[in-house]
Amino acid sequence: MEKKNVLVIGGGIAGIQASLDLADKGMQVYLVEREPSIGGRMAQLDKTFPTNDCSICILAPKMADCFGHDNINVMTYSEVSEIAGDAGNYNATVTRKARHVNEDVCTGCGDCNAKCPVKVPNEFDMELGMRKAIYLPFLQAVPRVMTIDEENCIFYTKGKCRLCEKACKIGAIEFDKGPEELKLNVGSIIVATGYDVWDPTPAKEYGYKKVQNVFTAMEFERMINAAGPTGGHIQRRSDGERPKKIGFIQCVGSRNPQLDHPYCCSVCCMHSTKEAILAREHHDDMESFIFYKDMRTFGKGFNEYMERGKSEYGITYINSDATVQENPANQNPIVVYDVAGKQEKMEVDMVILATTLVPRKGAKELAKLLDIDVDEFGFYESADKLLNPVDTKRPGIFIAGYCHEPMDIPEAVAQASGAAARAAELLSTKGVS
Ligand SMILES: Cc1cc2nc3c(=O)[nH]c(=O)nc-3n(C[C@H](O)[C@H](O)[C@H](O)COP(=O)(O)OP(=O)(O)OC[C@H]3O[C@@H](n4cnc5c(N)ncnc54)[C@H](O)[C@@H]3O)c2cc1C
Repeated sequence: MEKKNVLVIGGGIAGIQASLDLADKGMQVYLVEREPSIGGRMAQLDKTFPTNDCSICILAPKMADCFGHDNINVMTYSEVSEIAGDAGNYNATVTRKARHVNEDVCTGCGDCNAKCPVKVPNEFDMELGMRKAIYLPFLQAVPRVMTIDEENCIFYTKGKCRLCEKACKIGAIEFDKGPEELKLNVGSIIVATGYDVWDPTPAKEYGYKKVQNVFTAMEFERMINAAGPTGGHIQRRSDGERPKKIGFIQCVGSRNPQLDHPYCCSVCCMHSTKEAILAREHHDDMESFIFYKDMRTFGKGFNEYMERGKSEYGITYINSDATVQENPANQNPIVVYDVAGKQEKMEVDMVILATTLVPRKGAKELAKLLDIDVDEFGFYESADKLLNPVDTKRPGIFIAGYCHEPMDIPEAVAQASGAAARAAELLSTKGVS
């Protein structure tokens, strides 16, 4: 029988969409995700612009469809370690890290987690909360299976403990299991590895990690989320109080040649507006000020969204670069900005930094492995930006989502469907994998 197999690397919204499109066409998909769950960044967001729909409510059914699809083999906690061959006939090696929990047995009940004595900062919550060494990354994680983090587990660091093993009544813990290698033969590959949030600590003028009540936008997304580390309460680091006046600073690290990020991250005008709207929806007395270089609300309905932010939610937009100082008496951030060439200062209760977004850690190494090009910022390069935007220089390897260039969710979904269509076209022409 003819095989029409596709390897999708990265299980964010782009990788999920590409996998579903291909699987619905009858192709066999191997979806390889580095983290313990699929979902990517969209799983971390609270609501999504421009509709303010609940992000995980839209994403979770797609994650479940992907996992339950007869034609999709979801491999989490896994990475591609070798690629050889050509379009229509690629041989891939996938390394599956040891989760130390049997995926076929674990029900995600949490008995093990309750007994685990180790607490470490929770990366899904941008380290605003803690998780255990045996953990489910988030409530809607797919697969709903625990993972033991070897770096922090006492059994792996000190050779004793095994409390989780005692707590697990169905015997799902597998301390002795090591990593596995899988060999796949596929006709085509779609790369959808997404973005990382740039750490603004080196840009000292914004006060991140120095001024306590300065947060990144992704931290804010987790904070305002009902399932997040504060249960949806917006809280200052210094005293746990709820802010009444928030300053949002745009283009932090973006459009800044000194920091090697001269590009626009393309989503921060919209997500800061969204976050200010959500803050006001949480509290009627919330005042928000957005300090911007220029507003790039170019998508369909985006400018109207910003106008509603002004008229219905009282957001004030101030056209200026901004930096942050601290009032030592109350740990309030002080935003320093310019109006008509004159320096002004505004004391607020909290500052949210719309940091730039960069290609994922390891994106360049993956490009090397796949023999595809990256641009000067590390985003994957198209074969032809105009006419073949999702093709790479290597036939049969396609790109989709933020790993290609800055974009929002609807664009990532559209690109994913484009890449899936290109892969399907190639395989139906070649007829084999
Ligand atoms: C604060 C903030 C708010 C936002 N709000 C909105 C919004 O309201 N509306 C909107 O449209 N957009 C919003 N965005 C943008 C949105 O997050 C992105 O457009 C979208 O998540 C891109 O999806 P993706 O699948 O391309 O990448 P990602 O979501 O980053 O997914 C990539 C996946 O690939 C995996 N991966 C990475 N490397 C490897 C590897 N080597 N092997 C295997 N797997 C790998 C990752 O673990 C991840 O699961 C926001 C962005 C930010 C920063």
